[in-house]
Amino acid sequence: MNYLDLTILEIHEALLKKEVKVSDLVKEAIERAKNDEFNSLEATNFAEALNEALKLDQEEVPVDNYLFGIPYVAKDNLSTRGIETTGGSDILKGYIPSFDATVIKILKENKAILIAKSTLDELAMGGSGKSGHKGVQLNPYDKTRLIGGSSSGSANVVAASYVPFALGSDTGDSIRKPASLGGLVGYKPTYGLISRFGLFPFSVSLDHVGYFTRSIDDAAILFDHLNKYDEKDYTSSLKEREKVFPLKGKEIKKIAVIKEIVDSIKDPTILKEFDKLIEELKKEGHKVDFVSVDQSVLKAIYPAYIIISSAEATSNNANLDGVKFGNRKDGSTYQEIMFNTRNEGFGELIKRRFILGSYALMKENQEDVYLKAKRVRNVIVEIFNKLLDEYDLFIHPASPKVAPKINEGSDNLDNTYLIADNCLAIANFGGYPSITIPLGFKDNLPFGLSINSRQFKDKEVFDFAKDCENIIQLKNLSVVTFKEAK
Ligand code: GLN
Repeated sequence: MNYLDLTILEIHEALLKKEVKVSDLVKEAIERAKNDEFNSLEATNFAEALNEALKLDQEEVPVDNYLFGIPYVAKDNLSTRGIETTGGSDILKGYIPSFDATVIKILKENKAILIAKSTLDELAMGGSGKSGHKGVQLNPYDKTRLIGGSSSGSANVVAASYVPFALGSDTGDSIRKPASLGGLVGYKPTYGLISRFGLFPFSVSLDHVGYFTRSIDDAAILFDHLNKYDEKDYTSSLKEREKVFPLKGKEIKKIAVIKEIVDSIKDPTILKEFDKLIEELKKEGHKVDFVSVDQSVLKAIYPAYIIISSAEATSNNANLDGVKFGNRKDGSTYQEIMFNTRNEGFGELIKRRFILGSYALMKENQEDVYLKAKRVRNVIVEIFNKLLDEYDLFIHPASPKVAPKINEGSDNLDNTYLIADNCLAIANFGGYPSITIPLGFKDNLPFGLSINSRQFKDKEVFDFAKDCENIIQLKNLSVVTFKEAK
C-alpha cells in the first residue's frame, strides 16, 4: 500500500499529519507513470511537477484545500500552457497552447500538480480508446481488453493508481463509460457548471468537462473546486453555486428505473447486482419504480446523437486547416494546403464523422437530417424532464457488458447496443448531472451503475451516490487495491 492508492481525502489527511511529503507523492506518481503498460500517456510534465512539489514541501498544508499537492493527469484535449496538447490527433502535433484551460488554471491555483496528459480517442470522438494517434489504450484489469473511450488514458491512470484523479471530457459518455469498464467514479456535471474554456470543442451543445476519482467524496470535493462561473465560457451558468461537500446521504428518494433500458441488458451478473442494489435501496426506504419509455424513443438516441455531434464536430473543427491551426502540410494554394493538412492529419474515424456532419449540414439536407435530429433530441429531453418532475433520479447499469476484448466488434445495431450502450447520452442531451460508480465484478472485470438527475441537481446525485457506495461497498477501487483484496 502506498499513499497514491488512497483517496484525495485520505492523502490530504496524511499530508496534514506530515506522514508524507508532496514530493514523495509526486515522485511515486512519476515512477508509476514512467512504467505505464497501458498506453495511457501523451505528453509528460515530470520535471515541472517535481519542481512544484519541492516548492510545496516548504509550505504549510492548508486544512481546507484538499487539492494541495495532489498529483493528477488531464486528458489531452484540455489546453495546457507550455505543454504540447494534441487531442490525440496528428493534425495538432507540435501544438503548444499559450494558455491554460480554466479547469487547469483552477487546479494550479489550488496547487494540485499536473503529472501528464492522457491519451484519448482522436479529438474525443469515439468510445473505444483505439482511434487516437498513439494507438490502443489497454485496460489495467486485463491488458487484452479495452477500457473504452474517449477519455481512455485518464481512466487508466486512476484505475492503475498513478494518481487519485484525472480530468476528462464527456460528449456522449466519454467519462462515464470508461469509468464503468475501469471500476471508477466518473462524473459529468450539469451543463454550464464547470467551465469548458480551453477544452478542444467536439460538439459544443453536448460537451462537458468532468473527471475520474475513486470515491464519491473525492468527486464531490473536486466539484466544489471546479464549479465556478467563468466569463470566458459563454455557456457558463450564472446561477449561484452551492457547496456539496460534506455529503449528507441517507435522504429518501424517488427513483425511476427505465424498464426498456434494463430489458435490453442481457448479462446476468450485471442484472443480478443491479437487482440486489434495488432491493437494498428499497430496504433503506427509497421508493424505486420501474417506468416505461417507448423503445422507439430510446432507439433514437444514437442516431440523433451521431448526427448532432458529427454536424457540430464538422463545424467546430473547421479551424484545423493548417493555416489558422494545425500541423501544416505543403501545397501551392490555400486549398491544397488545407486538403493535404486535413487529409494527412485526421484519422479514419474523424473523416467518416466529418462526411456525415457535412451531409447533415448541407442546405439540401439540413431540414431532414440535422434539424430533425435536433427535434428528436428535444422530444427525448422533454420525456426525461417530465419523468424527472415525478422522480428525483433515474438509475441503470452504466454499461451492458464488461470491458470488451481489443478486437471485439460493438456496432451491431441490436437493442443492447442501441439502447443500453447509448443511453448515457440522455444526460448530454438534457445537460443533466450524471455519475458512474462501481457496481460489481464479473470474472475480475468491473462494471458500473449510472445515476442521473435533472439540471442543477448535482448535489442530489452526489448524496445518493454516496448512499449507493455505502451499500455496494466498492470504494477506492483500483487494480492495486483490487489485487491486494483478493
Ligand atoms: N462514444 C461517443 C462518441 O463516439 C462519445 C464520445 C464522447 O463522449 N466524447 O462520440
